[in-house]
Order: sequence, then structure tokens, then C-alpha cells
Amino acid sequence: MQGVGFRPFVYQLVTRHILKGWVCNTSEDVRIDVEGEQAALDQFLVDLESTAPPLAHIESVSAVIEKPVGFESFEILESISEEGKYQLVSPDVATCPACLEEVLSPDDRRYRYPFTNCTNCGPRFTIIEDMPYDRPKTTMRHFKMCPECQQEYDDPLNRRFHAQPNACPRCGPALELVDNKGRTVETKDVLLEASRLLSEGNIVAIKGLGGFLLSCDATSEKAVRLLRERKQRPSKPFAIMLTSLEEVEEHCQVSVLEKQLLTSHQSPIVLLKWKSESTVTKAVAPGLKHLGVMLPYTPMHHVLLRETALPLVMTSGNLSEEPIARDNDEALRRLGGVADYFLLHNRDIYSTYDDSVAIVERDRPQLVRRARGYAPYPIHLPFEAKQVLACGAELKDTFCLTRNDHAFLSQHIGDMENLETLEHFENTIELYKRLFRVQPEIIAYDMHPEYLSTKYAKDLVDESSGVAFVPVQHHHAHIVSCLVDHGLQESVIGVAFDGTGFGMDGCIWGGEFLLTDYKGFERLGHLQYVPLPGGETAIKKPYRMAIGYLLHILGRDSLDDNLPLMQYVDSQETDIIEKQISSGINTPLTSSCGRLFDAVAALVGVRGQVDYEAQAAIELEAIADEGEGGHYPFSIIGQGGVDVVSFGELFTAIITDLKGGVSPEVISARFHNTIAQVVLRMCQSLAGRTGINKVALSGGVFQNRLLLRLTTAALEAAELSVLTHGKVPTNDGGVSLGQAVIANFAEEGRIS
Ligand code: ZN
Ligand code: ZN
Ligand code: FE
Repeated sequence: MQGVGFRPFVYQLVTRHILKGWVCNTSEDVRIDVEGEQAALDQFLVDLESTAPPLAHIESVSAVIEKPVGFESFEILESISEEGKYQLVSPDVATCPACLEEVLSPDDRRYRYPFTNCTNCGPRFTIIEDMPYDRPKTTMRHFKMCPECQQEYDDPLNRRFHAQPNACPRCGPALELVDNKGRTVETKDVLLEASRLLSEGNIVAIKGLGGFLLSCDATSEKAVRLLRERKQRPSKPFAIMLTSLEEVEEHCQVSVLEKQLLTSHQSPIVLLKWKSESTVTKAVAPGLKHLGVMLPYTPMHHVLLRETALPLVMTSGNLSEEPIARDNDEALRRLGGVADYFLLHNRDIYSTYDDSVAIVERDRPQLVRRARGYAPYPIHLPFEAKQVLACGAELKDTFCLTRNDHAFLSQHIGDMENLETLEHFENTIELYKRLFRVQPEIIAYDMHPEYLSTKYAKDLVDESSGVAFVPVQHHHAHIVSCLVDHGLQESVIGVAFDGTGFGMDGCIWGGEFLLTDYKGFERLGHLQYVPLPGGETAIKKPYRMAIGYLLHILGRDSLDDNLPLMQYVDSQETDIIEKQISSGINTPLTSSCGRLFDAVAALVGVRGQVDYEAQAAIELEAIADEGEGGHYPFSIIGQGGVDVVSFGELFTAIITDLKGGVSPEVISARFHNTIAQVVLRMCQSLAGRTGINKVALSGGVFQNRLLLRLTTAALEAAELSVLTHGKVPTNDGGVSLGQAVIANFAEEGRIS
């Protein structure tokens, strides 16, 4: 991977071992030709791998012995571009300690300079237009280095040797502060003025590494509410940025592993347990007990946070679910109605990049959203892949390109529900194809005919002769993505719990037990089918789902007016729902586990309508009384070789609890325990049937940390081994990876 200080490292190593020759970057690898004493050469090879710089990922080293040619010095040669060859591209890297020290030192020439970076840190992927990685192929080409920067750049012993984005206040990019009409705010110190505006309650759009973020004082309920109103985002949680780990500890509980993740060079948002004494207003994450927190990851953030001395909201610079804004003009146009001021700069962003989101669960990090700091670093495949493009699903979409043993899982693209996101998706596919020199021979897509990603794939049929098109079942892809996350290529019992996935029988799946490998799957069991009254409407209005369950399972008499559920609905709508169910019009059947959580959330009165995906389920999890150990009854009914989990007893028991005055907190906990028991009993039975003792858990429902903990504990206690997600998101952000691998192994591409 280029741009990570590898060649200066080689130079220093060569100097130490008194070797002569050259080192050179190509489009594919780093080549080194050295001559010297045998012992020195041997030691050089050992040190090359064992002492490489922190960001250098050495995939493999191969060495051959040749006749000496009598080199007289050691040289770093120009990069060589080779047709068809490719090299890994470094993600953007959070400011390193050495650069931060310079930025905070009044005597340093880079004191408070927002664009300070070196070979160990700074922008990479977001400024790269093509490979090999050299300044003219980045958005830094417009800035000519001053003599001092050039000297650093040319000195193999300097930390900034060949640091392509190298810059200083004399020669590099600069900040500018403007109001929402684009008029310059006259000030001697832009960052000081921006921090003053923030502490006075203004909303400031800040151009960062991968796009614009919207910022405001996270302790001011008024400012946060204003931002919500203008951004049209009533309650979906915002992330915040804090100055230091000490400050994080004031607001959240944070474990050793969580600290490591926060301070890692990827510097993701980490979801932490929110302390009740935190001064961050509840409006930042209403109804939730976790708070998304990150530390400053550019010098600009470091200085701004120190000046402001307040927790700052940092949320994507977009309106609802559009892609994050990238260019200055575009930001002023799109965000002019949201932000009061704009903190701009003149270093162009070539590729947009959201902040990554991670949690620590089961003692390891799990990515919920994989973008800044991680993409486009590939996921390793346990086999040699064909060149495949997989288009993913719909919400939280990503795509995936494969080549050799690399799966280039894209950064989080977004919800494929509008043309702006589709355009971002298409442009990013083209960028990845160019960077990694991939020409897909297979194109994989979800079986759902209405997804924009599916339509995108099918539109390629005409222009792609000789390319195979492979539709992939959504939950099959989920489970395979979990297998690949662990580098495994074998059969497992897959438990895929999510909101929506197009099933082979035309129903909406989402509570699936699948005997799965790369080549195929067998559906061994699922949650019972229930009506989804009004389709999409039932997803936005979980009370419809609850009424659907009750009508379908227990009949109209179960709709007692005293149930908290009935506050969301009048008798007229109940009649409509009943008619929809009996006629089946716009009311598909679903086995979705996400919808079951929605139904229970509405039934106990947690929430009737949602503002963002899975809100009802997330709030149901947040209230659960974790000390409660009880669970509800359910049955497993064999239907022609398929085990179906039936919930009649579960709903009867919840209604009894509600009528008996049991709190929603206890009911929520009992319900979570029940679902863990469902997984346990199904997996035990399926392990007996198949002889397979390995269970892979995947799908968006497993973002529910309580459920994930309860389920893995139950399975492990029963001596089943459990695979959960880590590097690859468990939600639909991982689906494209599964699709790519499945399509790679599909017998023969099917054109449909
Ligand atoms: Zn640095
Ligand atoms: Zn300079
Ligand atoms: Fe899914």
C-alpha cells in the first residue's frame, strides 16, 4: 500500500545495513534491489517484515538471488505505472501524535495549521484520483510546495519524505469562514471565530476529510433541536466529537478496548454507554442509552475542539438521507438552509466518505458503518476470486469488487432511495474499478426487483456482452458475509435476522435459519409468516404490524381497548387493516424478525410510528431491564421438513403481563430472552439434524447488542460455536460482500 512511509523506512533500513541498490513503487508492489554482505541481506529481509511502519500492511514478501551488478549508492526511483496491475490504496488516517504535537506547539511552523500531515497520517483515499499514488494524481496537485516543505518531501530520513499531501501555512490549503449566503466573515483567526459562533448556538457546516459535517453545541438543547428541525431529522441520533479521552470519560463509560478504538488511526465513532450525569443534551440521541462519540481526527478538529471547549455535534452534512455534501458550492447550495455558517477550505475532496461507526461487543470491535479509516482497504478472501461486481441491497448500501484474494468492499454509500445516492454509488463504482483495475466478468445483485441497486445491475445487461449476471438471495448473502468476515469457507447454520429480504417464495423473509455455504443454502426453518398490512406503511407504523400479529394469531377479540397499542389507532384504521389482511391486497406475508421487534415495541407502548429505520426496536432494546431473566413460551412446528417458530403463546403471555401491570422494561427483557431461546432451540435441533455445530449470526437485527449478547451466551453454553460480525457490518452494508462471493461460486451465471 502506498503513502504509508514504506520507502523511507526501506531507505533507513538499507542505510543501517550498509546495502546499495534501489527501491521503487509500481502499480502493484514495491520492488527493492539491494546488494551487500550475505548476513546483512538476511537481516534486512527479517527487519523488512518485522519492523515495518504502523500503516504498512505487508501482504507478502518474495525474494530472489541474482548476480551483483555493482551498485554504487542507494536510490529511490520514480514510481512505475503498469497496465492492469493494481496496488492497495490507503484509507485516510487520523492525525498522528507527532503531527499533533507540532500543531499544538506555538514555536512550530505548523502551529495551529489545520492541514498538517505526514507519511503516518492525513488524507489519502479521499484525495486520490488514480494510482500509482503521487501528488499530481491527487487534489493536492494545485498546491506547489514551498522550499521548506519540498526539502522535507525530498529527505528520505524525514517523516514527510514523499508525503503527497505535505503542506504548511505558507504553501498549503487554507480555511475560510463564510455565512450561508457565501459572504466571507472577516476575521483574523478563522478557527477562533468558528468556535465562538458554535458556542453562541449557531450551526456551522464544516468541510472535513470526506465531506461536510454539520456541527453545533451538543450541550445546548436549543441548538440541537434547531439542527434537527432544519435537517429534517426529528430523532435519529447524532454523533458527537470530544477533545480527549478524559472528556469522553466525563460523558460515557468507556472500556480499555473502546479507548483503543477511539484513539486508533481509524478513529471511528464508537457507540458508548452514556452516563446519566453527562451534560450532552438528551436531544442528541433521544430515548437511547448509547451515545456515538469520536475524537478529533484532523488538526482542524483538534484546534476547533480545544478552542470551543464544548462537546460538538458532528453529523453528516446532508438533508435527511441524501449523500454527504462534498464541494464548497454544492454545500452552500444544499446546506444553505441548515447551517448559519460554513467553515470551508480549498483542498478538494475527490471521494466522499462518511465517518465509520463501531461498537465493542464480545471483546472485539464490530463495524456498524464501514467508511473513513477502513475503506478501501480490502477484506481478505480465503480463495482466489474472479472479477465480480456485487451491487448490494438498498438501505446502508455498499458495493463490492473482487480480484485475486481481495474483496474491495466500498465505503458506506447510503440508502439507495434517491437519485443523488444512486449517482454517488455509480461514481464510486467507477472510481474503484479504475483504482483497482477491475473489469467485472460477473455482476451480482439482490433478488428484490425494486431495489435501485438491482435496477442498476440489470441496466448493465445490454452493454456487457460476455458478463454473467447472478441474482443472490438476501439472507444467503448475509450469512456468507459473516463467513468471509472470519475467513471461513465451509457449511454453517446461518441465522439471518433482519427487516426485509426478498424470499425465494415471493414472501418477505427476515427470520431465517439456513444451512449455508458459498454455493447455496437450504431453508431449514423460519419465523412464522404474518401479514405486513399495507407493506411499506407497516414498516413506518409499527402499530400496524402489532395489529397484524394480533389479528392473524389471536383474532379481533384480542384488540382490547386497554392495551397501550390502541392509543396509536382508531377503529376505522383497524377495520382497514383487517380488510387488508383478509384480502391480502398490498399485504405480503413476512417472516421478518425486525417486524416482530416492531410489533412488540408497539404492543407495549414504546412507539407507534418511526422516524428512522428500526427506531421502535432500538428503543425497545434501550428500555430492557437487564436484570430480568424470565422468558415467554413459543412453539416450533415442523412443516414438511421446515421448522416454523410460532408466536401465539408469546403474544398471549405479553398481553397477560400488560394487563397484570408488568412494566414495559420487564416485558422487553423477557421478549429479548425469548428470542435468544428461539435461536438456541432452533440451532440445537438443526445441529442435530445436520451434524453442524457452527452457527453464524447475521442481519441488521443483530445490531441489537442485548440480543447479540443473550444469543451468543445461550448458544455457547450449549457448546455450539458462534460466528458474529467484526470487520464487515452485520446490517445490509455487508450484503454486497456476500453477494460477490456467492456469485463467484455460482455454477454458471444466470441472466435474468
Ligand atoms: Zn503525522
Ligand atoms: Zn510549505
Ligand atoms: Fe438485510
